[in-house]
Amino acid sequence: MATAVRRPPASGAQAAAREDLNPFNISQTQFQLAADALKLDESMRQVLRNPKRVLEVSVPTRMDDGSIKVFRGFRVQHSMTRGPAKGGIRYHPNVTLDEIKALAAWMTWKTATVNIPYGGAKGGIICDPKHMSRDELERMTRRYLSEILPIIGPEQDIPAPDVYTDAQTMAWIMDTYSMTVGYSSPGIVTGKPLSLGGSQGRREATARGCLFVAEEACKEKGIPMRGARVAIQGFGNAGSIAARLFAEKKAKVIAASDSRGGIYNAHGIDAAKAIEHKEQTGSVVGLPGSSPISNEELLTLRCEILIPAALENVINLGNAHDVKARIVVEAANGPTTPGADEVLAENGVFLIPDILANAGGVTVSYFEWVQDLQSFFWEENEVNSKLEIVMKRAFRDVYAAGEKYQTHMRTAAYIVAVGRVAEATRMRGIFP
Ligand code: NAD
Repeated sequence: MATAVRRPPASGAQAAAREDLNPFNISQTQFQLAADALKLDESMRQVLRNPKRVLEVSVPTRMDDGSIKVFRGFRVQHSMTRGPAKGGIRYHPNVTLDEIKALAAWMTWKTATVNIPYGGAKGGIICDPKHMSRDELERMTRRYLSEILPIIGPEQDIPAPDVYTDAQTMAWIMDTYSMTVGYSSPGIVTGKPLSLGGSQGRREATARGCLFVAEEACKEKGIPMRGARVAIQGFGNAGSIAARLFAEKKAKVIAASDSRGGIYNAHGIDAAKAIEHKEQTGSVVGLPGSSPISNEELLTLRCEILIPAALENVINLGNAHDVKARIVVEAANGPTTPGADEVLAENGVFLIPDILANAGGVTVSYFEWVQDLQSFFWEENEVNSKLEIVMKRAFRDVYAAGEKYQTHMRTAAYIVAVGRVAEATRMRGIFP
């Protein structure tokens, strides 16, 4: 890996500038690579690549000053072939329909990769939640939910949290739906507070899933987890909990970052202290005993495991040649571009793609839904051990596909996922 040719920064920047970073186009490229490998015919490709249903809604919301603001919202159901649609709701000023369509497709492939009986969906509202009061967010959430009500339900489409939505948002959704149908319906949404039918272990599930697949990758690559150097970009739900869980396995977290910058310590950062520092100051930056590092430097650190856990497209043609990690575990959705995938594979970097690596979240969401439907709740160790079985089996399935088709883990995961949805589509047939 150290032998990878370092390209002059200008050419990397130029290549990056030419890359198509539209998330929907990226999802289509990833799909096509698998469809080619599976030799899917054109009609099956048409069925699988397009969203089943796209709903755009206006969300009139009374603001605290008495004015009415109309937000634009979306719910996209990409597939319901293998079960109800499933996917989070995102509140962000940069939400676009293309982004929601891509995220909905990724959910279809993710649920199929880990083989849970769901399709894929995603929702979003173009809004700036950081500049809205709690009351405004509540009114906007309840109105959005009532607008998408005709297409959601515990057996149809089950939302969950995503960027800038949380357990409280899910509680409002559960209440709005329940008040409308006239009875308590916890199975309408996952990622709820424990007091409303949430699941033990859901908060840690994404990071724990990352750990399980990283352990498998380490075994494959002959890298001991004990002492493995780990760099983590993003220190929110996924990144900070990953820091804690990897440290519990005696890996050495040497760098971590958030939107304000990063910290580095070659001897290891105390994950618990970093979490505490972020809680107190709002950032990991300035943790005593660490030195500053930029987000860009973090991505190219020499380490065994790199965990992008923040944003999309951070590993791209501009920096992929400089990535020195041996294993990349994509806790974030879409952190690596298709161009960078090829560069990493050529350089021997073993990448565990998002639709596998971060599927622990939706897997425990599935467990939450199962518990809600049965009104019978599991202990945390039961949740975690079932999650381990699902994640490790999925890793094995994807690894085997990679061997069979002689391809990297991203395309291998898509081959597994697209193959499963194509098979289900064939068996059901096209209605009528
Ligand atoms: P979060 O909001 O809790 O944390 C995001 C973190 O990224 C924050 O620490 C933030 O400071 C940091 N960040 C923002 N801009 C940054 C920048 N420019 N450079 C470096 N860091 C920056 O979000 P999360 O739930 O941890 O999600 C992170 C990623 O993981 C997203 O891509 C999300 O879709 C994905 N994901 C999360 C879950 C889950 O269960 N939380 C499940 C699957 C996928």
